[in-house]
Amino acid sequence: MRRILIATSNPGKLRDFAGAAAPHGIEIGGIPNFSSLPSVVEDGLTFEDNARKKAEEYSRHAPGKIVVADDSGLEVDALNGAPGVHSARYAAPDLFDVQPHLADTNTDDDANNARVLRELRGIPPEERTARFVCVLAAARDGKTLATFRGTAEGLILDAPRGTNGFGYDPLFYFPQIQKTFAELSAEEKALYSHRGAAFRQFLDWCSKQFPDAHTPLRPLP
Ligand code: IMP
Repeated sequence: MRRILIATSNPGKLRDFAGAAAPHGIEIGGIPNFSSLPSVVEDGLTFEDNARKKAEEYSRHAPGKIVVADDSGLEVDALNGAPGVHSARYAAPDLFDVQPHLADTNTDDDANNARVLRELRGIPPEERTARFVCVLAAARDGKTLATFRGTAEGLILDAPRGTNGFGYDPLFYFPQIQKTFAELSAEEKALYSHRGAAFRQFLDWCSKQFPDAHTPLRPLP
């Protein structure tokens, strides 16, 4: 089985990646001693900037290996694209401005969701359009090899629904299947989510880059 190293300690992201990779006979692994590595300050203006920065810095700790990093977030149209690159720490932006070394730590998901709900109070359902964005960067020995962007379009509910997933999943209603992302299994989320979409592009790229790798990649679902 082929193994890909993912630079994250977020269990929700690892679950999503494992769900997306499993049908392709790929195992998702973490970077050795990830939690003891110096954290990367996510100060980029775009998801691409941050994904590249994380992949490049963490790949230096796994010489010769391809390391994939994800930067992702929620863009709410009625909030002019916020929380965007600040999604992980939306409920406490000031704290992270003062202590940037904490910037890749999530603030409380409930607090982030509460802030989004508060800011959308009074906005009618048809104006609560939003999208999840995920940018993956693949790097080796400190150099980005490629980036991949996946999106998922939905609506922000006025109360959370569902207990799976992480982050803003309970607020994110996906009209195509009439469920929130927190009501999906890992396999379903991989099928519909921004992360699944970006990961499939990455797999496609892998199969072109490494056509004679040991495990053949199966066609995309
Ligand atoms: P980062 O990519 O580590 O900067 O954090 C992204 C943040 O965006 C997460 O901590 C979540 O709050 C949010 N987010 C990204 N992807 C998802 C998702 O699939 N579901 C729910 N929230 C997400």
